[in-house]
Amino acid sequence: MFNKLIAAILPYLPKKFIWLFSKSYISGETVEDAMQVSKELNSKRIMVTIDILGEFISTLEEAEENKKEYLSLIDTAYSNSIDGNFSLKPTSFGLLIDKDVCYRHIREIIEKVAGYQGFVRIDMEDSPCTDDEIELFRKLKAEFPANVGLVLQAYLKRTFSDIENMLDLNSESIPLSYRLCKGIYVEPAAIAFKNHDEINEHYLKDLEFLFINKIHVGIATHDRKLIEGAYSLIEKYNVPKNMYEFQMLYGVAPARRDAIVSDGHDMRVYVPFGKQWFGYSTRRLKENPRMASQIIKAIFFKG
Ligand SMILES: Cc1cc2nc3c(=O)[nH]c(=O)nc-3n(C[C@H](O)[C@H](O)[C@H](O)COP(=O)(O)OP(=O)(O)OC[C@H]3O[C@@H](n4cnc5c(N)ncnc54)[C@H](O)[C@@H]3O)c2cc1C
Repeated sequence: MFNKLIAAILPYLPKKFIWLFSKSYISGETVEDAMQVSKELNSKRIMVTIDILGEFISTLEEAEENKKEYLSLIDTAYSNSIDGNFSLKPTSFGLLIDKDVCYRHIREIIEKVAGYQGFVRIDMEDSPCTDDEIELFRKLKAEFPANVGLVLQAYLKRTFSDIENMLDLNSESIPLSYRLCKGIYVEPAAIAFKNHDEINEHYLKDLEFLFINKIHVGIATHDRKLIEGAYSLIEKYNVPKNMYEFQMLYGVAPARRDAIVSDGHDMRVYVPFGKQWFGYSTRRLKENPRMASQIIKAIFFKG
């Protein structure tokens, strides 16, 4: 209840104040910050996926700028020998303005990454984007089979059939690669599971189906029950190490993350950076179970 109230007033609080709570989720505003955090994580045997913050742009000039920023980030990351790949949001390349322009920008980014034998993950955004993002992925996967992957959201009722419908893209030589997450956007009950246990049940059902079909999965969760469920499925199907990894967000559940690494599993952390941190970080704050108490303490005790 309290968290909901705080979440509702977040956009009206001073940006400087929100930054106090946001900075633990973001590597910084500059590419140098992202490199430093990535190197620190790499030194702990943790891979990264780097994301430039920003989404839902309003002009195609912004899309062009965002593409240039990614192209430059890619060279910087490889020149710093970062063990990682890249994540991007199609709406920051104009998905909702001009699908062809968006496709061409993302294609250029993937082409560059493919030159380094690298990999780009297309993040999944809210439900008005789902069909377009799947279509975009299909097109890019045909051209760059080993260099692009997609995100699936277990809370969407359509996800299991989306996985079935994309099975034609899978092959033993170059398996499909998905990141499986719960999903972060507020979606209507008509299309999305709302109950925590129901989402978890579907998450594990999707994960099992992906393992059975020999699809590579990024198991993206901080939820202890899902991590335990994933461990059981890995054991049940004897899933080889090159067919899965765990993934977490920068700044979330580091102790749980380190325990997974100690158990001998591969781990990748999502490392966002950039000046447009507000939208991303308020989503993270809303997910933080201790958000209300932290913010209230800051208001009343730290002034
Ligand atoms: C690598 C990665 C990439 C993602 N990409 C996408 C994407 O493309 N599209 C999309 O819709 N969603 C994406 N997400 C977000 C995801 O959908 C969930 O909203 C988010 O991961 C929280 O779900 P959870 O599985 O951790 O479970 P939850 O039930 O939300 O959390 C489980 C536990 O984790 C801890 N926790 C979770 N979040 C926080 C937090 N912010 N602060 C402190 N503790 C926290 C708490 O202990 C909580 O009880 C991504 C998540 C990850 C890890």
